[in-house]
Amino acid sequence: MKAGKDKVIAIHYTLTVDGEKVESSHDNDEQLWILLGHGQLIPGLETALEGHEAGETLQVEVAAADGYGERQEDQIQRMSKKYFPQASRLKAGMVTVLKLKDGNQRAVTVHKVGMSAIDVDLNHPMAGKTLNFDVVINDVRDATEEEVVHGHAHPPGAEAH
Ligand code: ZN
Repeated sequence: MKAGKDKVIAIHYTLTVDGEKVESSHDNDEQLWILLGHGQLIPGLETALEGHEAGETLQVEVAAADGYGERQEDQIQRMSKKYFPQASRLKAGMVTVLKLKDGNQRAVTVHKVGMSAIDVDLNHPMAGKTLNFDVVINDVRDATEEEVVHGHAHPPGAEAH
């Protein structure tokens, strides 16, 4: 069975950026279950997986535009330290997570630490980067109706949600 829209795939992956390993599903030995065609993956990786089958190994290079987007220059924002749970430990270049008003969280990069405020770069930390994925496809199956309605995969053994 070939991977594509409304198929569920199980993959192991390692993400490498600028020659450094960023993350890997091998680290905790937990494969990732993905419903394809529903925006669960970055576009460049999703496109690369299409038409492939279980047992295949892929090396995928994803350009920034098909990954986390290009860097935008006007994304530096000054924010009061009170919004940062661990403000005293932050230094320029560190990535930290901000809680937004809508309850969502967002990873930002510390640009400059001042007396009472911190300048953060709102670009995604991976913006502007070429992403290199090593992917092993372990399984491809049809999505269930419920998965398509929910817009995500239900891994085996996971509780209903
Ligand atoms: Zn669900």
